[in-house]
Amino acid sequence: MSAADTRTRLRTALSETTQRLGRAGVPSPSVDARALLGAAARCEGPLVMLDDLPDDFSAELERLTARRELREPLQLILGRAPFRRLMLAVRPGVFIPRPETELAIDLLREHSEGPLATVLDLCAGSGALGAAVLDEIPGSRVLAVEIDAAAAALARENLESAGPGRGRVLQADLGDSTSSSLAELIAAAPVDAIVSNPPYIPPEAVPRDAEVLEHDPHRALFGGGSDGLEVPRAVISWASRLLRPGGVLIMEHADVQGPAARDAAAQIGGFDPLSTAPDLTGRDRFLIARRGDGDLNPGSERLTQ
Ligand code: GLN
Repeated sequence: MSAADTRTRLRTALSETTQRLGRAGVPSPSVDARALLGAAARCEGPLVMLDDLPDDFSAELERLTARRELREPLQLILGRAPFRRLMLAVRPGVFIPRPETELAIDLLREHSEGPLATVLDLCAGSGALGAAVLDEIPGSRVLAVEIDAAAAALARENLESAGPGRGRVLQADLGDSTSSSLAELIAAAPVDAIVSNPPYIPPEAVPRDAEVLEHDPHRALFGGGSDGLEVPRAVISWASRLLRPGGVLIMEHADVQGPAARDAAAQIGGFDPLSTAPDLTGRDRFLIARRGDGDLNPGSERLTQ
């Protein structure tokens, strides 16, 4: 087949795939169609550079398109998700990293003082935040904690590719402070910073997109309690206990949870100052809590002991 024929075939395939995905309700049909064409063509670069297509291109494109029509997330179909400078491995049953979470790394750089030698990633999921820390902060070490076995295994892989030998993953439940698997977390203190994208969706705010509702594990979405902040409170509580003075917690939350997240941190105590950072669309999305020199509020320590 000539290069010109290849281009005609690609143009037709792109327009047909875009239309099919659009009819299936996929929110970004042409971007996704391009990605599926690239995967079917085994082409990492721009499609316009292709002079030839593999023999099974059409069959492969049909297979991938049918999956996306059923609203399987693009990242699961491709087996990878971009995050900051990395291409992370993703897997069915593990929360897919989101672009908005990328901002946590900028906030970490902006708000931390002194060295970032030891960083924790709590509720690590695929290990996206921890892997980005290893990749972007030379010499740092990351200890990640994740409750789910499949996610913990994936986080191990992603951390190892981003910073060979510098990351560790504990499979443990942060809500069970008596768990012996948390001994290593306690032993890591005092740490320089903590990044976290915990589950935080309140029970009534059920996500609408099939990609989220049917593919992300619900344990990674819903934060527990009437306000969705049960797991985030456990994260804040651990941060108050494990951060060194001047160390900072950067934690993602839902856009309605800014004041509640600051209140939770104020109640646990030990942080100064406490603030909220917006995402790129101007919505409150991150708690920034610097560990001060002071004590925790009386009684709050029992949360993590
Ligand atoms: N951001 C998630 C969502 O978009 C919610 C849970 C989380 O990130 N921790 O569905």
